[in-house]
Amino acid sequence: MKKIQHIINGEATSGASTETQAVYNPATGEQTAELVLGGLADINTAVENSKQAFKGWSTTSPAKRAKVMFNMRQILIDNQDLVAETISKEHGKTHDDALGEVTRALEVVEYACGITEKLKGDFNSDVGPGIDTHSNRQPLGVVAGITPFNFPSMVPLWMIPMALACGNTFILKPSERDPSSANLIHDLFAQAGLPAGVLNVVHGGKDAVDAILDHKDIHAVSFVGSTPIAEYVYTRGCAAGKRVQALGGAKNHMIIMPDADLDQVADALMGAGFGSAGERCMAISMAVPVGKETADRLIEKLIPQVQNLNIGPYDKKGAEMGPVITLDAKQRIEGLISQGESEGAKVLVDGRDLKIAGYENGFWVGATLLDHVTSDMSVYKQEIFGPVLSVLRAESYEEAVDLINSHEYGNGTAIFTRDGDAARDFATKIQVGMVGINVPIPVPVAYHSFGGWKRSIFGAHGIYGPEAVHFYTKLKTITTRWPTGIRSGAQFNFPSMD
Ligand code: NAD
Repeated sequence: MKKIQHIINGEATSGASTETQAVYNPATGEQTAELVLGGLADINTAVENSKQAFKGWSTTSPAKRAKVMFNMRQILIDNQDLVAETISKEHGKTHDDALGEVTRALEVVEYACGITEKLKGDFNSDVGPGIDTHSNRQPLGVVAGITPFNFPSMVPLWMIPMALACGNTFILKPSERDPSSANLIHDLFAQAGLPAGVLNVVHGGKDAVDAILDHKDIHAVSFVGSTPIAEYVYTRGCAAGKRVQALGGAKNHMIIMPDADLDQVADALMGAGFGSAGERCMAISMAVPVGKETADRLIEKLIPQVQNLNIGPYDKKGAEMGPVITLDAKQRIEGLISQGESEGAKVLVDGRDLKIAGYENGFWVGATLLDHVTSDMSVYKQEIFGPVLSVLRAESYEEAVDLINSHEYGNGTAIFTRDGDAARDFATKIQVGMVGINVPIPVPVAYHSFGGWKRSIFGAHGIYGPEAVHFYTKLKTITTRWPTGIRSGAQFNFPSMD
């Protein structure tokens, strides 16, 4: 059985870890590897190593750090099929979907290639007599990332390129459910010329996370995962004096106005609802058509498309959706569908108990369409994180907006309409961080930052893009005067530049 180990100082090691956890291929349900689970001792070792590496890396010029990113860019392109396959074998998403994940990760590497420009400070001459002031941004030291299962390459690469380009060293604690991508990312960075110890990978669960949160020499933590854990990570990390950005869960609504092109809407909902088996924090899980006629016409278009979705393992030609991540996830999703049904939702297409020939032990849930969902139902309140698209019928645009603004999450949302006035009103009033106008999954490009509102984020900074430069650096301002030989005597008043 393959054993997946930590990587500390460029070497694979089990360190002090004695516990292990099984890793599965979700399409077959078979165990494919055994993962070592680290804790306090392994985090301590990684931090000591990262502190040593920081001395050299933080004094490497930003231009040289950028060269590693330029190399990494080409290496990622050359290895994109390998990265995609590594993702799919443990996550289950289709090969094309995994390639899309790699492409979005690549964008962040490309943005980090321009770090010299982004670390430029500000300068003012003559802020006082013979006095100049300049400010720059310096790295924090050792920083850490804790990542979820659903984007095992992209989410680590939302963090690592910018943290490293800013001059920090990084400890990654990836999801224990699909951990191989993290080790591959490490190896690709090593090929790109990143010195050993600048990026360390420690595998594990809660023990490793707690050790990261409490360690006094880890200065910042980036977290992406579910809301309860995001809140926990933020609270405990801040109490230990760190900077923390913690991105949480979501329930993303799409409003469909009566004037929308419903063929376009149905296509958008299929991709945004069922792509990656709905295991995306930007998945659209709630369709909110405005008016009965809009809802009826939309449902008519959706039913055959949902029924005919091509479901299969990642390497099946033409597969549009794969399995969900674990047996637990399958049971939880199917349980929520049943709960929704018992609370009064109408199951128009039922994905429970799906079997795929030749893959009978896989973690399959078929595409599911629920109608007549209401805001008091558990399927509405909770993030399902599975291939379940719910329709909640709104009588008016105002009702639809109120619904979204009242939800605990505020990650992504969209409106489909031809009406510029409604779209503009929506963009202004909606209490959500990432908004699409006729765009179902408005994930910002790498030169804008990603982040939701409300309980979809804890902390002040979005992830990647310009916000990452601020998150991963601290500001220093230097005020300079060179001796002129003229003495002005001791000044006891608070200094001013007059
Ligand atoms: P998760 O919260 O279960 O796990 C995320 C990380 O936290 C993992 O590394 C895990 O090991 C660790 N963890 C889990 N339980 C812990 C505990 N009790 N104490 C300390 N650490 C713990 O999330 P997941 O199931 O891997 O990922 C899916 C979730 O992530 C969904 O809620 C999804 O919406 C969210 N997500 C959000 C974004 C975003 O940008 N907002 C992006 C991707 C995923």
